[in-house]
Amino acid sequence: MDAGEFRKRGKEVIDAIADYYESLDQMPPMSTVKPGYLYKLIPHEAPESPDAFDEIQKDIQEKIMPGITHWQSGNFFGWFPSNSSFPAMIGDMYSTMFDVIGFNWICSPAVTELETVVMDWLAKLIGLDKRFMAIKEDGTEGEGGGVIQGSASEAHIVAMIAAREMAIERIQSSTQASQDNLDAMRHRLIAYFSDQTHSSGQKAANIIGCKTRIVPSDDDFRLTKAALVAAIDKDKSAGLIPFFVCGTFGTTNTTAIDDLVGIAEVAAKEHLWYHVDAAYAGAALTCPEFRPLAKGIERADSFNFNAHKWMLTNFDCSALWVADSTHLVNALSIHREYLPRIKGDTSFVKDYRDWQAPLGRRFRSLKLWFVMRMYGASGIRAHIRGHVKQAKWLEEKLVEDGRFEIMAPVIFGLVVFRVRPSAIFTTPDDTVDPDTVNKVNTDLVKAIQADNRVFLVGTKIKGNDVVRAAIGSTIGTQENVNILFQVILELTTK
Ligand code: PLP
Repeated sequence: MDAGEFRKRGKEVIDAIADYYESLDQMPPMSTVKPGYLYKLIPHEAPESPDAFDEIQKDIQEKIMPGITHWQSGNFFGWFPSNSSFPAMIGDMYSTMFDVIGFNWICSPAVTELETVVMDWLAKLIGLDKRFMAIKEDGTEGEGGGVIQGSASEAHIVAMIAAREMAIERIQSSTQASQDNLDAMRHRLIAYFSDQTHSSGQKAANIIGCKTRIVPSDDDFRLTKAALVAAIDKDKSAGLIPFFVCGTFGTTNTTAIDDLVGIAEVAAKEHLWYHVDAAYAGAALTCPEFRPLAKGIERADSFNFNAHKWMLTNFDCSALWVADSTHLVNALSIHREYLPRIKGDTSFVKDYRDWQAPLGRRFRSLKLWFVMRMYGASGIRAHIRGHVKQAKWLEEKLVEDGRFEIMAPVIFGLVVFRVRPSAIFTTPDDTVDPDTVNKVNTDLVKAIQADNRVFLVGTKIKGNDVVRAAIGSTIGTQENVNILFQVILELTTK
């Protein structure tokens, strides 16, 4: 494929992409293929001589498409949204065009410098504290800064590695421990999560090999200061060394918000690294009215949210900020002659390979830049507010119907509900067998998925099976939420 052929075929593909987006809502959102379907449809070896482009295009439609669940459909309400947008796609096309591996500034200065600037833009857009800014108001470099990771899970790992570095350094300087003692101490490090923290916290701990304490959340699914303090006290008396705590702004199950101020106080007193995971809900902070809910994050050591969830930026674009990059860079910086750094004036030079696990990195800031420029802050806020309004509408309609109960406050775009026990039996709620209520609700989720006009998933909270509707599609409108509501009513009745 030479440039001329690419020009022709590339235009055809752009047409196919635009057609796909225009027809998305006419397709059932969920793929219904059976495991192994594709193995039966495609050859089991790469072709010896080149396949024709038209053949491959045809296979996309006939073989790949059936195995796609359409996350970008307006009728997709599963998990959390994974927003795509045309501006982001265009940014990604340029990234693909350059195809540079910007691990050090020297690899392609624009890759590093745009990321630094755009992450500061984003920090300001969500009202993040100045501590997290790479460039201070006076134009000099700050201690902190942002970096784009592939996912919130990677951000969690990276934050925990920095936390371990900080803890070891503190122990070393306060106790003059020998290397042997330090190695032994590493095995006593313990990280704190709530039972609502995303699984990525536990995974990060497994990867770095530290202990974890899962602290029970309160009745509102929040990690509280009191519960955290109690857990820490117990662990310290057992000889463990607390070093990391994760507070969540918008948990996965219910979008609950932990006691972020209380956690900050504990973290400061106990010298813990304080990571705030706002993977989904962080995008809401683009709207100033949500910022009072995030009080406490200004005291965090690291803060993360996924622009690829609810902020119009195609996967992958997970924004991580640290207030002080020293520990992160110390932990992840490894010198080799084949990874040269710039000599001389190094102001504004960030070698982002020291801020992440992999060496190589894509030019991901381009898509974020396109999104922020082409939507503007006002467009991004309208996107968020529209979904929050639709979620509140759905909540109201479900309550009005009388057969449903809302199982967690609707703060952002997520509505968590269930069919209430008294809608199943004509007995008071508290005399109904919980297993039966759970079965009715898991059956409702299965029925909605089988019906396949809309897609959503269920979850379990405090022993109750519930239905989760996450509103947040880029192309979704109130019309899609109307369909969702009608499907819920119809299948509940059935
Ligand atoms: N944290 C929270 C609160 C989440 O809801 C999720 C995913 O939904 C994650 C972390 C993990 O996100 P990622 O897929 O970017 O690792």
